Amino acid sequence: MGVDLELLDRTLEAHGQPAFRARQVWEWLARGASGYEEMTNLPAALRSALAEEVPLSSLTLEHEAHASDGTVKALFSTADGRPVEAVLMRYRDGRRSLCLSSQSGCPLTCTFCATGQMKFGRNLTASEILDQALHFRRMTEVDHCVFMGMGEPMMNLDNVLAACRRLPDVGISSRRTAVSTVGWIPGILRLADSPLPLRLALSLHAPEDELRSQIMPVNERYPLEQVLEACEEFYEAKRRKIFVEYVMLAGVNDRYEQALALGDLLDGRIYKVNLIPYNPTGSVYEGSGREAIAAFREALESRGVEATVRLTRGRDIDAACGQLAAKAAAA
Ligand code: SAH
Repeated sequence: MGVDLELLDRTLEAHGQPAFRARQVWEWLARGASGYEEMTNLPAALRSALAEEVPLSSLTLEHEAHASDGTVKALFSTADGRPVEAVLMRYRDGRRSLCLSSQSGCPLTCTFCATGQMKFGRNLTASEILDQALHFRRMTEVDHCVFMGMGEPMMNLDNVLAACRRLPDVGISSRRTAVSTVGWIPGILRLADSPLPLRLALSLHAPEDELRSQIMPVNERYPLEQVLEACEEFYEAKRRKIFVEYVMLAGVNDRYEQALALGDLLDGRIYKVNLIPYNPTGSVYEGSGREAIAAFREALESRGVEATVRLTRGRDIDAACGQLAAKAAAA
């Protein structure tokens, strides 16, 4: 629910309202309403009561940055003061894609990721996840969503799934929603069992355990081979290709031989690789150059694995995972 569902239900009840009012409020929010006064099928007295008693969003907008390419990045805070980031990306083909956060901060400590360097806050509620989407829905229609903001969605899967059940009302079907994970095996298996036709994205970043453990300590807990096994189970259940994300770090994971090793590791019928130019975050890493990325892509294709290079969006506004919140915390 966009607003705090329980508070809305309690307030409606206190005003002697029938239960279907909650559904009406949600339908307005899902279509981009930005105030109760727009909800013309509610009695006027109720509209003003709700405006007084039930905040329209569980999040407060703290900062919003608009990039020259149309990307919009929002930094919110929760009622208890935790930072939450979300991004709207607009593409030339008309796609409007949201990047949502599932947690404030992240308990995992991937060494290249700005969020991983922050302190973990807490899991977000389903309302806090949906309210990120509703914020952008007030600006434009939206049709795609990725859980690639702050946090590890598989560690907060109940709330992520609760939000995903409502996203179609906002315009984003489950088939156009991707849950991205470091390779949290129990979550991958649960997603395989879920009736929702969500897509899976796997942050891989290295073709072998030693290097992967160095840049993603979670690999010690869920090593590569077991993660890929779980992904294959997901594929068996869903028959939908899995996106492998691979952030290109100069001199670390971008060598030609590493591309060949990755190509040999992945079955091209199951996986599609997305090479991600690194967004510098003040870490020890530097992003790979264009040529290294192009050569890496060709090596993958030569091994029968489809690979694309992700467009960088919103560079001028620090749109990489955790960057805004990390800056705000440092300021
Ligand atoms: N915890 C989940 C989802 C959040 S991160 C996961 O790791 O998949 C979403 C993606 O952004 C991940 O693939 C992550 O590796 C990538 N990422 C993080 N920091 C980045 C940066 N500075 N530049 C480019 N990609 C980054």
